[in-house]
Amino acid sequence: MLLPELRRKVCDLHAELPKNHLVAWTSGNISGRDPATGLIVIKPSGVLFEHLTADNMVVVDANGAVVEGSHKASSDTASHCYIYRQMPQVHGIVHTHSRYATAFAVLGREIPCVTTAMADEFGGPIPCGGFALIGGEEIGQVVVATLAGSRSPSCLLQSHGVFATGASAESAVKAAVMTEDNAAIVWTALQIGAPLTIAPADIDRLYNRYQNVYGQ
Ligand SMILES: [Zn+2]
Repeated sequence: MLLPELRRKVCDLHAELPKNHLVAWTSGNISGRDPATGLIVIKPSGVLFEHLTADNMVVVDANGAVVEGSHKASSDTASHCYIYRQMPQVHGIVHTHSRYATAFAVLGREIPCVTTAMADEFGGPIPCGGFALIGGEEIGQVVVATLAGSRSPSCLLQSHGVFATGASAESAVKAAVMTEDNAAIVWTALQIGAPLTIAPADIDRLYNRYQNVYGQ
């Protein structure tokens, strides 16, 4: 079987989506790209999260053609593949309809950078791209265009949800979790009043410290 470790990794990471309240039923998907072969491991379409196994993950090539797998690949596969083809540094992608972030997407609004955690992780607002239909690579095109003008690893899609990227599938999951957490904080603050802004120079300082100095 191809890529047993990446299959296991991508399968196990799917458990983080319901655990972090990012998905309902079978919505949401994760993929990971193997740096050595360029092959992509992605969730099978319409399978319940508790029925996901390393074996029923689907392996596709850069154009989305199934290389190994007995199931149909996620309906978002063409968009994942488009993003991987355009963004060589990305090796993990997560898509969710997480509640608070999608509320901003429904309004076509970015999530403003008003917490130090957002400055750390996203280096600015989490941008919102335009509307795109599901099934082909149109969503991927919107994601790539939206992330191009931003330091954020994740973006919103108008009337749809969240796409988060990372250097690995795990870091993309972290970005998806942090996107929802900050969306919930900003939404809550908006119910009480107008959030205070952080000066752009301070956002830069926070981002640079966190990205370059923070951690072990
Ligand atoms: Zn979706």
